[in-house]
Amino acid sequence: MRTRAVPAFLAALTVTLASALAPSLASAQARPAASAPAARQAQPRAQRLPSSAPRLVVVITVDQMRADYLERFKGQFTGGLARLLRTGAWFTDAYQDHAMTETAVGHATILAGRNPASHGIIRNSEGANDPGAPLIEARGSGASPLRFRGTTLFDWLQARSPDSRMLSVSRKDRGAILPVGRAMQMVFWFADGQFTTSDYYADSLPAWVHAFNARGVPAHAAGRVWEPLLPADSFPEPDIAPWEHGGTDIAFPHRMPVDSASARRAFIVTPWMDALTLDFALEGVRQARIGRGPAPDVLAVSLSSTDAVGHTYGPYSREIRDQIVRLDRSLGTFLDSLAKLRDPRRTVVVLTADHGVTPFTGWSRRNGFPLADVVSVDSIVQAASNGLVLRLGPGQWIRYFDLGLLTMDRAGLVARGVNVDSVVGALATSIRAVHGVLRVDTPRSLAAVDTAQDAVGRRWLNTVPPNVGAELMVTLEPKFVFGGANSAEHGLPSDDDTHVALLFWGAGIKPGTYTGRVSVVDIAPTLAALLGVQPTEPIQGRVLTEAVRR
Ligand SMILES: [Zn+2]
Repeated sequence: MRTRAVPAFLAALTVTLASALAPSLASAQARPAASAPAARQAQPRAQRLPSSAPRLVVVITVDQMRADYLERFKGQFTGGLARLLRTGAWFTDAYQDHAMTETAVGHATILAGRNPASHGIIRNSEGANDPGAPLIEARGSGASPLRFRGTTLFDWLQARSPDSRMLSVSRKDRGAILPVGRAMQMVFWFADGQFTTSDYYADSLPAWVHAFNARGVPAHAAGRVWEPLLPADSFPEPDIAPWEHGGTDIAFPHRMPVDSASARRAFIVTPWMDALTLDFALEGVRQARIGRGPAPDVLAVSLSSTDAVGHTYGPYSREIRDQIVRLDRSLGTFLDSLAKLRDPRRTVVVLTADHGVTPFTGWSRRNGFPLADVVSVDSIVQAASNGLVLRLGPGQWIRYFDLGLLTMDRAGLVARGVNVDSVVGALATSIRAVHGVLRVDTPRSLAAVDTAQDAVGRRWLNTVPPNVGAELMVTLEPKFVFGGANSAEHGLPSDDDTHVALLFWGAGIKPGTYTGRVSVVDIAPTLAALLGVQPTEPIQGRVLTEAVRR
């Protein structure tokens, strides 16, 4: 079934292009171009669906879930992933259609229906960090949606249904916070070995969170051994690859530290962290009476173990296959338990990911990309920065270079008589000459790209807001990665990092396999249509009508 609505898609791209480069133009054009397709499709549903609309929307984000994991491992699924694949809507060509594909950026996009250039979360390092919002009863960095701009699905729902509530849980602060947007709902994440929140949301933890933490599950994992769930002959991939885990502890079984303090710290990079997060979500559903009706509620669960295992062992490791098979089993238990608590006929589930991952360069070199390598342009950027400081005195003349995005203080430089275009031009020439650099864009070159054909150009346009001082956007050749980290990484506008799993299941969903190209920004308007509510601001996604029952 190929039903990608080309006119809506192009309209959305036009708006994205305009909003990235000319804010005044975008604000004039965005409303009719961006909201019309969603509004036209959502309106009939709003009139027909409310009596049978879902009471509970469950949004499951699997951190780093590449789209191909479903295809590669589906023969070994018997649990939740098997159920969603068999009786749900499987979108095989779905993308986090932006650059800087990291956790905060992807999580902010999932329920916003808008790309990073619009919601403003473009860097993981800023993400949800907020020293002004300290954690409650836990040590760790404060966190809030300080930098998130605009609305999400939950805001659209609450505008129509003031009694609706949202529970969002994750191992990571940004994974719990950003899918909610700015709403002050029940938002919990894992820090210092326990679930907590910040004072943005609450002054104290509810009794049920205290009770859950008191179980002490992470500390009890001391000495536990992670062995493969399936027999060794179920794994076509070798267990030993020299690039895994910095070259140490690369083969099963993996043993947890024997002292409980170390085990608490190590727990977050094991498959058991996902099971614990799902248990916590279920306890929250019970205790906070999420999905009891009559107003529809939203439950968001972000599962981080796949990201931890993927970084450490890579997307073609025995460990990642075991992690995804275990995830399938954990999700099966979760969905079975949820079905006992809430009517599955009034529940809709979506499962997606915040980003994918690029294989270790060692793996790529042995598998068809003999030149794949790690790239660094840091010395070039540093030399340019030093030159500006020498000439002008101390200052953040180059603000940052992060995952290909170089930002500068253009106004400050112009005020001191610097020919910024000449500085940027010289930098671009030096960076283009580095082995592994595919292209170097500027805001001007991006303005001219064909956004229907040029995925990389489109993803940069979807990422960079007009006010961050973007001067250069550096893209690497496929399978090349930035930096010197001893891990498999993500963060680029490549298909490896942007192509993600997307499944819908349950109330109002038409099962099937859908091969048309779709974007993660389509999730929020589709759920809105099922709920019978409308986006309250211009968005870039469209309703996936092909998978919605009429
Ligand atoms: Zn990651």
